[in-house]
Amino acid sequence: MTSSIRARLTFWYTMMMCAVLIVFALGVLWVQQRFSRSQLDSDLDGIAAATSRVLRTEVAASGDLAAAARETRTVVDVPGRSVAILDGTGRPLAAHWRGLHPSYLPKPSTMPAFTTISDGRHRWRVHVVKNTTGPVAWIVSAAATDEVERERKLLARALLVATPFALFLSAAVCWWVASRALRPVTDMAIQAEAITSRTPDARLRVDGTADELDQVGRAFNRVLERLCAALASQQRFMADASHELRTPISIVRTAADVTLARQGRDEAEYREALSIIADQTSRLRRIVDDLFMLARADTGGYPLRQSLVSLVDVLTDSVTSMKVLAVRHGVALRVGAISDVATIGDETLLRRLLDNLIDNAIKYTPAGGSVVISVQPNDGNVALAVEDTGCGISAADRQRIFERFVRVDATRERSTGAGLGLPIARWIAETHGGTLTVEANAAGGSSFFARLPIVERQSARWIADVDPLSRRLQPSREQAS
Ligand code: ADP
Repeated sequence: MTSSIRARLTFWYTMMMCAVLIVFALGVLWVQQRFSRSQLDSDLDGIAAATSRVLRTEVAASGDLAAAARETRTVVDVPGRSVAILDGTGRPLAAHWRGLHPSYLPKPSTMPAFTTISDGRHRWRVHVVKNTTGPVAWIVSAAATDEVERERKLLARALLVATPFALFLSAAVCWWVASRALRPVTDMAIQAEAITSRTPDARLRVDGTADELDQVGRAFNRVLERLCAALASQQRFMADASHELRTPISIVRTAADVTLARQGRDEAEYREALSIIADQTSRLRRIVDDLFMLARADTGGYPLRQSLVSLVDVLTDSVTSMKVLAVRHGVALRVGAISDVATIGDETLLRRLLDNLIDNAIKYTPAGGSVVISVQPNDGNVALAVEDTGCGISAADRQRIFERFVRVDATRERSTGAGLGLPIARWIAETHGGTLTVEANAAGGSSFFARLPIVERQSARWIADVDPLSRRLQPSREQAS
């Protein structure tokens, strides 16, 4: 069962109020009882003191205790109060009993100054005082506690009626206050419900009071902004991806249609058509692989196979395989300054990073130019540099080229890719805790720098030993080398 926050608030508040009111009511009854009793006791004490004074005077005048007691009885007569004068043995000499039966009185010599007794029908508060001036006598003053108890019962009944009423009132007030306090939350929920992918610009209304609800509203709006940006970039990505995929598909389709349109073609024509189809399908495959890789990178789902990687080894492998391409383009591919440094990373990905950079450098450098690759420690990092004497990249395009599907118009006809090589290279650098940047160089070409965290050979081996993932991968790397 679900219940609203205000219902829960009201419930807990009412429970708390109930406990407080019960404790308060019990406290009031206790205080009232103590107060009434102490009032009655001081009343009885006053009567006993007055009786004692009169008795002393009468004894002094007559010298006879019994006569003095009788005389005192006529003088001291308080309505609703019992007064009795007893001799030293506890025998009554004179009294206004007023309902109190003497047989219920304990022996005065054994009685405490104040006590409460019951005669079966009423309870009595009794006070006893010993008169020590002259002959020994006991003065007893008493009062039925009926009146006090009636008052207490009246108060208890009043509290019994008032407590539920107060509870009901406080619950109603709490419900009202909670409803008012939570109304903005309900409003926000209604506004949030109305926001759909068709109204991406809609936001929650915030009143700028900087209170908690205002903060929630702002935080929600910021989440919406991030989601909108992600949605827009995903839509752009989808549009760009389908555009890139459409071109090779339509070339394949056209090659097939043209070839099939006429019968009896010779082998050379079929070969030419099939080689176009093979080129375009391998381009398609490259694009799909790249897209898949970026999609996995975006969701953090690309599995890194980490191990200790010698960057000189990576460079050597890359240069060896790219040599053929360089020769084909008439570009000199050279290795510059080299330092034997290592990093922890995914060797295949690092190789891919370097391949992408060298491939671009060769592609965008005219015949007769050169491409130099170097590995140098730099500020606690290792800088993998790929520098060419090619066409260069304008300052405006230098940041753009790391975005997906971006190809600079001036070099578009030389590009065989879909503008995904550099975004992938940058992701590889960043996923290894590094950076990938580009600068213009003095030869008018471009210099790409991949800066990666450096690991000394010594400590790197130690890391590889303690890192279970690296340890698992290490033998395979050693076997490979
Ligand atoms: P592509 O597959 O088109 O090469 P990239 O993402 O690798 O895609 O590169 C994006 C764009 O950056 C290229 O189209 C090109 O215009 C530019 N570019 C990349 N490397 C170089 C370079 N070394 N010299 C000049 N332009 C470059």
